[in-house]
Amino acid sequence: MSFILGLTGGIGSGKSAASQWFENQGIDVIDADVVAREVVEIGQPALQKIHESFGNWVINPDGSLNRRALREHIFQNPSARHQLEQITHPAIRQSIMQQLHAAKSPYVILVSPLLFETDQHKLTNRTLLIDASEATQIERASQRDGQNSEQIKKIIAAQMPRERKREMADDRVINDGHLDHLYQQLAVLHQDYLERS
Ligand code: ADP
Repeated sequence: MSFILGLTGGIGSGKSAASQWFENQGIDVIDADVVAREVVEIGQPALQKIHESFGNWVINPDGSLNRRALREHIFQNPSARHQLEQITHPAIRQSIMQQLHAAKSPYVILVSPLLFETDQHKLTNRTLLIDASEATQIERASQRDGQNSEQIKKIIAAQMPRERKREMADDRVINDGHLDHLYQQLAVLHQDYLERS
């Protein structure tokens, strides 16, 4: 199995921009958000378990997961959130592990907004934090998602504080300037990761 880099950062910090750069260098990138959606697709065992645990209201007429109804339900009900995570987290973890094993590039990246919060960092050999000031995060995320800054601030407040992520991450790049500046910092780290792999 190759060297695994965990890549994380708050909303709008530039995780996707950084991941895209690594992909352009031929590095396989596994996105935990994508995996989280895949494990609850029609026909997946986790969807069946959610159906059994929560009832018919959680399934749309076409058999897919009613994400909105489930989101509202767990928002009001912490024990339901826990119950849901008991189903989804092991499925997500297993799928991530399979994809990490199957990767063919010199090293492989697991990108996850919740790398430290969900213990996914324990699957990795080293971690990289993409860091941007809160003002930058708010500006970029609200432009990208068309949400107002209050909504973005709420999401930031619910995420692990940047200071804590900084303590936990092995490497850190600051993405407050131009994309070229981000890419320069990533190029230096890429050489280091190639040597470690
Ligand atoms: P994340 O995946 O961490 O939420 P993104 O990579 O999607 O963040 O970046 C948020 C938005 O800001 C995107 O629209 C992205 O293209 C843009 N962006 C990221 N880094 C920069 C940068 N250094 N300069 C300008 N725009 C950037």
